[in-house]
Amino acid sequence: MTAYSEQTARLWMAMDIGPYWIGRDDDDPLSPAAIAREEEKSKLQISSQTVRQEELSGQVQVVSTVPERKPHEHTVLTSPESHKPKSYELKPIRRTFADPGIVEVDSELLTQAQSADWETLKKLVAQCTACKALSQSRLSTVFGTAERTAKMVIVGEAPGRDEDLQGKPFVGKSGELLENILCALGLHRGKDVAIINVLKCRPPNNRDPHDNEIAACATFLTRQLELLDPKVVVLSGRIAAHSLLKTELSTGKLRAQTHSLVINGRPVPTVVTYHPSYLLRSPTEKIAAWRDFSLAKKLLLELK
Ligand code: SF4
Repeated sequence: MTAYSEQTARLWMAMDIGPYWIGRDDDDPLSPAAIAREEEKSKLQISSQTVRQEELSGQVQVVSTVPERKPHEHTVLTSPESHKPKSYELKPIRRTFADPGIVEVDSELLTQAQSADWETLKKLVAQCTACKALSQSRLSTVFGTAERTAKMVIVGEAPGRDEDLQGKPFVGKSGELLENILCALGLHRGKDVAIINVLKCRPPNNRDPHDNEIAACATFLTRQLELLDPKVVVLSGRIAAHSLLKTELSTGKLRAQTHSLVINGRPVPTVVTYHPSYLLRSPTEKIAAWRDFSLAKKLLLELK
């Protein structure tokens, strides 16, 4: 007997192709013996019919005693017909696009973005098609949420599937986790904390953003930070840390210390931590993230 691993079973399920189970007490319905049996049954059915063939002016007439089927009756196919592959209704699927990371920036739009207010900036982002693959495959641009009372800004990486669907950053499981961490620190999303992303559009299949896409979206991010004018910034995950601190050190090496970002001409204390989606995959790192957010809160209190 073939032993299928759990991994194989999951792969089959993920691909929607199996597993195909056959009862061990019965023959395999596709085995030669089972097919021969079914053929024998078909022959018996045919012999129960009275078939008279007459040649009438070169035509063959078939007369059968099998009662005519009424229009509402269905044909039930017997084996081996019943073992033919099922036909499935075709459903629309999401289009996929070639993803070479082509970027063509609109200089005029970016110039407007440099001095735009929050609402105008949001509209400019919605119009932006600089990253060809991202703008073609996105369902929405994810601009970010902010209240003017927010003193802390969290910068994440890019929208994922849930964010793309809802048009909001950090929703779904990772959003819940982030909100729980903030809540435990007595901070509230919106009122105390604004959340934005490095990229405003979802990279296809959640791949890492390309450098040229990060560069194309940097004008929007910079303007958002200027408008929010935070007291403390938290960079959530590798992409945010690398984009804004211009380093390639790992999140593990960058966290647990205070960095500095210049926003509106003044240095703003900045903390690096793990992205919540990473914490969901590596729950043992939650304690490290808790320490990083505690550091950010301490910096915030010191600056009040
Ligand atoms: Fe434009 Fe940014 Fe979206 Fe790229 S990611 S298309 S730069 S809004």
